[in-house]
Amino acid sequence: MSDSQLYDVIVVGGGPAGSTMAWSLARRGVRVAVVERANFPREKVCGDFVEPAGLRILQAMGIGEALEASTSSPITATRIYLGPRLGFRGKIPYYKPEHGLPAHGAIIPRHVLDHRLLEQAERASAKVYAGCAVRAIAREGGLNHVDVHSAEANFTLKSRLIVGADGAESVVARSFNLEMADRAHISIAQRAYVEGIEAPDGESAVWFDEDIAPGYGWMFPMSGGRANVGVGILSEACHRQGHSVPTAFAATIERLKIRHPGCARATLVSKPIGGVVKMYGGAGSNHFDGGVLIGDAGAFADPMTGEGITQGMESALIASATLLRALEQGRFDAAFLASFERDFRSYFDPSMLLLGFCAAVMRNWHFREFWMRSSLRGCERAMADGEFARVAGATFGGVNVHPLGALQHLGTSILRYLSEGTISTLRHLVSEGSSGREAMLGDFLVWQSGWKSSASADPAWHAAWLSDLLRRAVQLGPQLLSLENPRIRGLSI
Ligand SMILES: Cc1cc2nc3c(=O)[nH]c(=O)nc-3n(C[C@H](O)[C@H](O)[C@H](O)COP(=O)(O)OP(=O)(O)OC[C@H]3O[C@@H](n4cnc5c(N)ncnc54)[C@H](O)[C@@H]3O)c2cc1C
Repeated sequence: MSDSQLYDVIVVGGGPAGSTMAWSLARRGVRVAVVERANFPREKVCGDFVEPAGLRILQAMGIGEALEASTSSPITATRIYLGPRLGFRGKIPYYKPEHGLPAHGAIIPRHVLDHRLLEQAERASAKVYAGCAVRAIAREGGLNHVDVHSAEANFTLKSRLIVGADGAESVVARSFNLEMADRAHISIAQRAYVEGIEAPDGESAVWFDEDIAPGYGWMFPMSGGRANVGVGILSEACHRQGHSVPTAFAATIERLKIRHPGCARATLVSKPIGGVVKMYGGAGSNHFDGGVLIGDAGAFADPMTGEGITQGMESALIASATLLRALEQGRFDAAFLASFERDFRSYFDPSMLLLGFCAAVMRNWHFREFWMRSSLRGCERAMADGEFARVAGATFGGVNVHPLGALQHLGTSILRYLSEGTISTLRHLVSEGSSGREAMLGDFLVWQSGWKSSASADPAWHAAWLSDLLRRAVQLGPQLLSLENPRIRGLSI
């Protein structure tokens, strides 16, 4: 074995998680190699939306400004459609410039973002093996033996530590029996680029329809009337209800044209392509003898939105601190690397357990009509009450989730709903009999019918769902008292 083939760390995969990891280690003098199947720039199926916390990391890596300058207007506003109705339109209320978070997101096409990130790792002196696919990994004699296949040759690289950053179909996760395959935490999504969009600058759109529940569609505007349009649905629902994501995608484009005045002339300019996202609710221990899993390989994506670019980079930064300690102390065993799991859980759990609980509640497809009604009411209130919009919006789509704040708002909203609803229900009963479908009684009847249909359609699934909710509520309990969400403050880089 030549010395050049032995590394301290081999990172498999050069997406946002792998490149951030390689950059973080290489700039601290670690001998690190990135083995990446594709030759960059390469297309990666994604919505291309980078949330404020991701932009903050890119800035700290010294590439944020250049990347943002090369893209469209900052994303600061959104439209939310619930079925055909426009429920919310306005500024994204939870984007605040705190702890260096920019008050906007950005659409950065992945062939641009990932290429720039990998170059940054290379500049920090990481060795990049591009166009090289990892086929198999074996741990022998305290080293990882990594079999690599390229168009020119097959060869073996060796390292003390290995990082699985090879996405949702990770060969590293499979090799160490850590692959997460639970459909309740996997989303199937498809996207394409369209042209002819006339949306206001920086205004995205998301939409919810009963036939894509639990899931949503998006339109993220880029420059020159171009946009990234897509739809994502929970894999469990696709499997149980027979949803087809390509069919949903075709329908969603047609609906977008009818509903959104700025999208009436949208025309597909790329072939729709699909992929899967593995979400944090299913994340396992993510460490093993001689290595760790980060990004999609370790199921770090947001359980409500499916966003995983930022979470991938965050998991890389947390794991790079673990690996530096391991290299300093010469400890590469799973027991030592277990500190990665402790560290990522204390960083992500305060926000992600709440998001995971909400996602678990909503994965029951039988309640879809109830959730549409509730979301419509939530949107109406958000249009009138900025503080409610900030907290509720963050729970759906932001890094600024604050469990205690969300709980307080939820409690106040339920009390308000019950008091206003009781008055309105009584008014309907007196003036219109019991047919007041817009009143609380209507919500209750829809909820009750969801409950009945869930329990009768598949009692075993229903019982398992309830016990999952209970388990998650117990896990979530202590987090509700945490005063700070570490993701708002971010990680030291
Ligand atoms: C349709 C869709 C829309 C999405 N929209 C968004 C969004 O708008 N915002 C957001 O934040 N997230 C979004 N996501 C999720 C996001 O794409 C992922 O969470 C993110 O890419 C994870 O980064 P990663 O570095 O972990 O993995 P990846 O980006 O998947 O990178 C893994 C890399 O590993 C390489 N690789 C794989 N196998 C091997 C192998 N055997 N050997 C060598 N290399 C290998 C791949 O070529 C790839 O470059 C979306 C996902 C989908 C499917």
